[in-house]
Amino acid sequence: EGFIKIKNLIKKYQLNNGKGLVAVNNVNLDIEQGDIYGIMGLSGAGKSTLIRLLNRLEEPTSGEILVKQEIVDKKNNTITGYENKNILKFNMKMLREYRKKTGMIFQHFNLLNSRNVAENVAFPLEISKWKKKDIEKRVDELLEIVGLSDKKQNYPEQLSGGQKQRVAIARALANNPKILLSDEATSALDPRTTNSILELLKDINKKFGITIILITHQMEVIKKICNKTAIMSDGQIIEKGETKEIF
Ligand code: ADP
Ligand code: ADP
Repeated sequence: EGFIKIKNLIKKYQLNNGKGLVAVNNVNLDIEQGDIYGIMGLSGAGKSTLIRLLNRLEEPTSGEILVKQEIVDKKNNTITGYENKNILKFNMKMLREYRKKTGMIFQHFNLLNSRNVAENVAFPLEISKWKKKDIEKRVDELLEIVGLSDKKQNYPEQLSGGQKQRVAIARALANNPKILLSDEATSALDPRTTNSILELLKDINKKFGITIILITHQMEVIKKICNKTAIMSDGQIIEKGETKEIF
């Protein structure tokens, strides 16, 4: 079983000098539905490459990423079962669907500066071709979840770092993802703001059952919210398991 199964994953970059650099070296991970799975390691360990492989922002050299998918009976729109599918074999259409259900947040938020808060959060819904009325309703719902209802009309430059990350989280949740990928989401924030963002992520995990995979170089982040941890060094997972057993 399992929800996300990473098997023998390898990513080798071809460098300009003709040499190869193995950034992810035979990684195996089992992530259960509802996990907050932390991947910790020093700069250069391969964390960012690994998380980018999970939504195919990078293509691996070899290996498999199996993700549990619903089998839907199209006739009456009911779920008849589950199967594990290798996302590396997805065609463009399946990949688009998968990415819709896989939100991502970043260290530097990646907001659109020419759009206000509501318009940033609406962006993925516009791409998904939601109707204007439905978008408005969903954006309000999302801003309520992240506690930013009063900042709807503000532009990113008028917000604090923590507020910007809340906008990014709302945007990542827009399409009701099953998976949230977090790339050093609290690394640019002060300790107090970090805590409030981690609390929000924990809430989202509990309330909506979203599986969170986060990479960080900060042990406090892992200890605070991750039930499982993997430690990465030089492209390899050198330790993994329940967080309380690792520390
Ligand atoms: P981390 O996120 O843990 O800091 P990265 O995944 O960013 O690690 O990097 C892992 C290794 O891969 C590093 O040695 C880095 O220099 C190298 N690397 C990352 N991206 C590329 C790339 N696009 N081309 C070549 N080498 C890369
Ligand atoms: P799931 O597959 O997890 O149920 P969906 O995206 O199908 O997620 O639907 C989640 C929620 O979003 C539902 O409440 C649904 O009404 C709403 N929704 C989904 N797609 C649209 C759409 N194109 N326009 C308006 N609302 C939508």
